[in-house]
Amino acid sequence: MPVTGPGHLLALIRTRPHWTRRELLDATGMSRPTLLERLAPLFAAGLIHEAGSTRSEGGRPPQLIRFDDRSMVVLTFDVGHTHARVCYSGVDGRPLRFVSLRVDPADPGTIVTELLGVAAELGPAIGERLIGVGVGLPAPISPLTGLPSPSTVLPSFPAARMQRLWEVPVVFENDARAFALGAALSLAGGVVLGVKWSSGIGAGVVVDGRCLTGADGAAGDIGHILVDPDGPLCRCGRRGCLAAFAAGYALQGASPVAAARRVGGVLASLIALVNPRTLVLGGSIGAQPSVVSIVDEVVRSVAMPHSVGELRVVASPPEVEAATVGLVELVVRRVLSPDAVDALAAP
Ligand SMILES: [Zn+2]
Repeated sequence: MPVTGPGHLLALIRTRPHWTRRELLDATGMSRPTLLERLAPLFAAGLIHEAGSTRSEGGRPPQLIRFDDRSMVVLTFDVGHTHARVCYSGVDGRPLRFVSLRVDPADPGTIVTELLGVAAELGPAIGERLIGVGVGLPAPISPLTGLPSPSTVLPSFPAARMQRLWEVPVVFENDARAFALGAALSLAGGVVLGVKWSSGIGAGVVVDGRCLTGADGAAGDIGHILVDPDGPLCRCGRRGCLAAFAAGYALQGASPVAAARRVGGVLASLIALVNPRTLVLGGSIGAQPSVVSIVDEVVRSVAMPHSVGELRVVASPPEVEAATVGLVELVVRRVLSPDAVDALAAP
């Protein structure tokens, strides 16, 4: 990536926290006046700062030039079928303050009022600088508009109203894809299949840190794959969807063990298609050790050995709220993209 404008320069600085102006000059090939001209708007916008010196000899020692994320925070709303989590995080995804609450997606107007009430109590705190808002929803997200499309669980959502509430970007993503992205960020690149399985069931395919969204923003919507035409009635109105057997609302507290076999069968097809290195299972049902072990066994017995030989099937670590981490990452990518930074730094 050639380093030209301030946006690309910031992208470089974010990955090189131990560099001074000297290293930046060497790496970019810019003249000193050009570098100083490109750095100036980044300093002015509070995006970089001088972070101490590399040595302590006479004269003014060279200063480290670092990305200034010290006061930056991201607000996220991770909305599922029955619960939502409102969180303020640092730009690295580290949670600062959060509240979980029960919600009813059938009543989206009330949900938004409740979510906003909680968010207002949480922050931002004095001295914090809100750079963006991320919203995860159990719905497809239109690649054209970036807004949620109607889904079985969430027939409507006042997304445009939410966008108008803040002067910073508001980014929407499907909840299961946000989970998959967040879970994949802690793993070493490659292809990751993430599955969020709690009240509903959905998946995301992450390739080298990017989650596939699909032509209609519905990639990973596996809950309504038909697995048995004579099966139970599903919330979508059809019979025998995977969700009608396995989703939390269908199980109603019953053991998910039998359902894990059906889920494993569907996941084996996805594994044959995308050949992931890791399958991460999350959500209140998906992360249960017995469920992980059955899914592991089923995918290995259904898919070919060359698709699963090196596959790891793991539970998402409970201490990491992967969906929140994924939403924060999406917001940071939007706000700090080279184009967005260039626009911000324009005179
Ligand atoms: Zn269905």
